[in-house]
Amino acid sequence: MNSNIDIHSMRILIIDNSENSSGLIKAILKKETFQHVFTATSIKTAIEMLKDERPDLILLSYVLPEISGTEACKLLSSDIHYEDIPIIMVTANNDIQTLQRSFENGAIDYIAKPFNGHELVARVQAHLIRKHVADERKKKAITDPLTNIYNRRHFDTIFEHFYLRASSEEKSLTFFMIDIDNFKKYNDNYGHHKGDEALQAVARTLQTQLHRTEDYLFRLGGEEFSILLYDTSDDFIKTLSSNIHQALTDLNIEHAYNEGYERLTLSIGVATCGCKKEMTKFDIYNSADQALYRSKENGRNRSTFFKV
Ligand code: GH3
Ligand code: MG
Ligand code: MG
Repeated sequence: MNSNIDIHSMRILIIDNSENSSGLIKAILKKETFQHVFTATSIKTAIEMLKDERPDLILLSYVLPEISGTEACKLLSSDIHYEDIPIIMVTANNDIQTLQRSFENGAIDYIAKPFNGHELVARVQAHLIRKHVADERKKKAITDPLTNIYNRRHFDTIFEHFYLRASSEEKSLTFFMIDIDNFKKYNDNYGHHKGDEALQAVARTLQTQLHRTEDYLFRLGGEEFSILLYDTSDDFIKTLSSNIHQALTDLNIEHAYNEGYERLTLSIGVATCGCKKEMTKFDIYNSADQALYRSKENGRNRSTFFKV
């Protein structure tokens, strides 16, 4: 199954305070041509590493200096940032209670020391294949097939996540609601196929305006897109908005029926929420929607900024 998956370029992190033990595992995996094998000697250094590295699999020693391996396993598997990374416990203690505790705390498998190299490699390979399949499935579930950007489902997840984070950290959350102007006329006059191509070009153009890892672009549905930004200055928001309008001018897609502009344009409604007081996600969504309505009313091809 899945023989075309390149599991040898997937990333493996070994967390073990015994450098002898991690060195041995690393040597076995390297010999099997796994190219990206990292080691950490404590959970603290591992968590530091996880900020930059995204391993596809963690091999976690049952014995660690600061906290037990099972506690470390629970810590990682219950964190939203790491919960997708499968954890294999490496233990010298393969009594039934140890195994039970490992699985209860989120481990997907275990390897008992002293281990057989072939068994280690077989288990690692099996879990990497599963991880790859799960990643692909997840990606498909959150991607809009026409434009290849995030879909409405992922918007709901990130909006909720940003909203909760902004409320607890008292930071701002900014929601751009972006709508193509007179797009029905575009479809009616140039055809649905051209309409689809225009949607793809707009999505690509919007994506090139975003450079930070936590700036998100979504297709909400139809000819509507959204951008979510976390903890962002007013200057950044204004610059992003004018860059988007400029990028659409540069894209220069003819739309003879978009009166006054004769090319494809966007209207944008922006809501920025301080998230300090009682405020629902609905209030923020509604505010962006009203700002968008104002942009349409005032002649389209512009942005309106509201503070909630
Ligand atoms: P406004 O400037 O007020 O936003 O007018 P509009 O015509 O853009 O808005 P309206 O909501 O009336 O029409 C949206 C159109 O978007 C309807 C449909 O023809 C088109 N549309 C929605 N989804 C798709 C799609 O997936 N592909 C194509 N080609 N067209 C789509
Ligand atoms: Mg619309
Ligand atoms: Mg529209």
